Amino acid sequence: MTNQYVYAFSEGSAEMRSTLGGKGANLAEMTAIGLRVPPGFTISTQSCIRYQQERALWPELLEDVQHAIGEVERELNKGFGNKQSPLLVSVRSGAVISMPGMMDTILNLGLTDETVIGLRETTQDARFAYDSYRRFIQMFADVALGVPRVRFELELERLKEREGVEADTEISAEGLRGLIDTYKTIVEEEYGSPFPQDPTTQLHQAIEAVFRSWDNPRARVYRDLNGIDHNLGTAVTVQSMVFGNKGPTSGTGVAFTRDPSTGKAALFGEFLLNAQGEDVVAGIRTPKPIAELANSMPEVHREFVETAALLEQHYRDMQDIEFTIEDGTLYFLQTRSGKRTAMAAVRVAVDLVNEGMITRNEALKRVEPAHIDQLLHPTFNPDALAKATVLASGLPASPGAATGGAFFSAAAVLEANERGEKAILVRAETSPEDIEGMVAAQGVLTARGGMTSHAAVVARGMGTCCVAGCADIHVDEVAKTFTINGKTFGEGTKISLDGSTGKVYAGLVETKLPELGDSFDILMGWADEARRLGVRANADNPVDAERAVAFGAEGIGLCRTEHMFFEENRIAAVRRMILAGSAEERTAALAELLPHQRSDFVGIFEAMGGRPVTIRLLDPPLHEFLPHGESEIADLASSMGIDVSVLETRIRQLEEFNPMLGHRGCRLAVTHPAIYRMQVRAILEAAVQVVASGHAVDPEIMIPLVTSETELAWVKEEIADEIALVFAELETTIPVKIGTMIETPRAAITAKAIAHEAEFFSFGTNDLTQMTFGFSRDDSGPFISAYLDEGILDISPFESIDQTGVGELVRTAVADGRETNPDIKLGICGEHGGDPASITFFNTIGLDYVSCSPWRVCVARLAAAQATLN
Ligand code: ADP
Ligand code: MG
Ligand code: MG
Repeated sequence: MTNQYVYAFSEGSAEMRSTLGGKGANLAEMTAIGLRVPPGFTISTQSCIRYQQERALWPELLEDVQHAIGEVERELNKGFGNKQSPLLVSVRSGAVISMPGMMDTILNLGLTDETVIGLRETTQDARFAYDSYRRFIQMFADVALGVPRVRFELELERLKEREGVEADTEISAEGLRGLIDTYKTIVEEEYGSPFPQDPTTQLHQAIEAVFRSWDNPRARVYRDLNGIDHNLGTAVTVQSMVFGNKGPTSGTGVAFTRDPSTGKAALFGEFLLNAQGEDVVAGIRTPKPIAELANSMPEVHREFVETAALLEQHYRDMQDIEFTIEDGTLYFLQTRSGKRTAMAAVRVAVDLVNEGMITRNEALKRVEPAHIDQLLHPTFNPDALAKATVLASGLPASPGAATGGAFFSAAAVLEANERGEKAILVRAETSPEDIEGMVAAQGVLTARGGMTSHAAVVARGMGTCCVAGCADIHVDEVAKTFTINGKTFGEGTKISLDGSTGKVYAGLVETKLPELGDSFDILMGWADEARRLGVRANADNPVDAERAVAFGAEGIGLCRTEHMFFEENRIAAVRRMILAGSAEERTAALAELLPHQRSDFVGIFEAMGGRPVTIRLLDPPLHEFLPHGESEIADLASSMGIDVSVLETRIRQLEEFNPMLGHRGCRLAVTHPAIYRMQVRAILEAAVQVVASGHAVDPEIMIPLVTSETELAWVKEEIADEIALVFAELETTIPVKIGTMIETPRAAITAKAIAHEAEFFSFGTNDLTQMTFGFSRDDSGPFISAYLDEGILDISPFESIDQTGVGELVRTAVADGRETNPDIKLGICGEHGGDPASITFFNTIGLDYVSCSPWRVCVARLAAAQATLN
């Protein structure tokens, strides 16, 4: 580490961001390219870290600051504390990654009882001088000395009342002079010593305040939420003041070089004449659109437009620029890459390529995969929203538009989903046990908790819509009701949440998909050209399959067949099949199911238009399909023509202590080969039918939960036999692949042998994670939260692949599988298939494709492209 603590603007550059912070680095860069930047210097982020340890400023630093102030004094021919021509500065914080919640900027530092007179004389404006001083006392006392801001605000209000004026700007110079004395008394009372009259002391205290603000609770919470390192530190920029509040030829403003919400290529910004710094943001007066500057100050406007274009060219990205005009002279006070919506991010990236500013590959790197996710979230149809009834209002904790029935526990949400109902999780507040329900819910509504409550944090992390802290609502989780204004609503009541406004609406308000526009398709096309990894989708029905294709999926990587079993017209047959008393009864029930399954597959093959479809044969434990409650059991018994007690015994026999490690997956085929035979028959009959109607098909039959080569060979023999039967009956053949999931650790370890029997492997990373960690996916929520809190885990292994453990199993199985069978196709179909960090890993270890939910296909296409490019 060097021991240079202080860098003049003329010494720095944009590359020095980690030392100078974003603000300091860009002020140095703008100085270097010859823009008019008020001179100043930046104290390094490393100094902030040293301050955190020593809790005091050290002599070398103070010397360097002194020297740097001297340079500014010489350049401007002003003096710090000089009565005739005082140097005034601002003290600004600037972290490497821009961060709200840090210290407010202090303006006009250097004003004292003496220098304020100098300012009055040089500007010939007493009002301006006194107003600057009283603002400085207020800001400095608040930020550096910890004096409550309200005390000053109260006095300001009183003064306005006494003078009978409305706006701050109407207060007389005399009034302000008196206010300064009152302010100084307040400081002495609250702080215990007088307001510092030495500019150097003021500066030192302000620098310390910025350093301390790095460690304040707001800033810490923000860093935790956004995964920012606590050891980066913030820089402090000290910059000579320019004044936008010197009269009608002065002003201040903020502008983006493009529209930050749409990305449209047109200057977008606002300014205020005769105003200083924060006035634009504070909203006291309504600012004017930047274009109007052309009327009042055409020269300045022209210079601004040219410079904005220059900055954009220089940084090769959309900029967010702060400027001030003092007596008709334009100064630049900040530039940074402009924050933008997802839609603007995509459009700007594509436009910059078309304008020749950046390459396609750079454009691909400019858009965050998470942004894509946001783009695909539905929004409310504005007309429908305008007509909807607002039930209550809470905090807009996580954006999105959610509609569904209200359910009061995670379990109820999951049950609703199983019935095919959309659900909103409604709780007094959420806790880690609710995670599963939060994942499955369309949205989350809580009565208590703020923007950083569990519900809010988790929902934002998952991209799930959330309204938190909705105090108008009283939730009774036991009675399964919520009450608003004395009116009580029961379980399943249809509601809609707007996570961007915090409003809760009655009923299901119509939603629409955002219009993605040409830029989106263009960018996705570039992603497809750049990526090596294939992207498929997990889809179980024709609707999802069509959506997957529309989002650009190249096939289905996982078609689960169990969801089909739950459908209303067939669950009875499924239950008769499971609870059959004899092989004949089972065969009869399966025969009933066959046409249903066949038509499912016809629909999916048609939707996929010849793209590969990996169909997983039945996987879950059978008891998941069993009837619940007396009446369902009684109905089933009578339809089977048996006694309720007989049926109940059969049900009891299916109970398992640890079902996820129980009688499921290909184990079902070993005990009940007829089930897989029926499914295979349905797949092939469907495939033949679709081919006969003139469409292509590419079926892949996948066997779940395999643990050994012998087991796979056994199941495969059954399947191959059925395939031969079907082909013989139909007097035709079509190509069909048979492969396996690799989702038990043993399968991964013995992949070399298993590959003899498999044309493809699909890594089921959900089960593989569950079994490698021994963490039940259904029960691990609470302790995984504790592991995250304690830093034992950085991220849940169910969210992002555990590269060193589970990932290692995948890596070796990939290598071993290829060794046996160089043509083997390798993919992954767990939740991890839509997680950008996991996708990068899968790309590195050489998988052929990832498969994820249709909604995440675009995210995966971009993440796969970025993985190739990096
Ligand atoms: P933030 O990081 O919150 O944007 P800034 O440090 O940019 O805070 O400052 C807040 C406001 O003060 C901005 O409007 C900025 O333009 C203004 N400001 C900062 N330094 C000066 C200065 N030296 N002269 C005039 N205005 C300044
Ligand atoms: Mg700023
Ligand atoms: Mg599995």
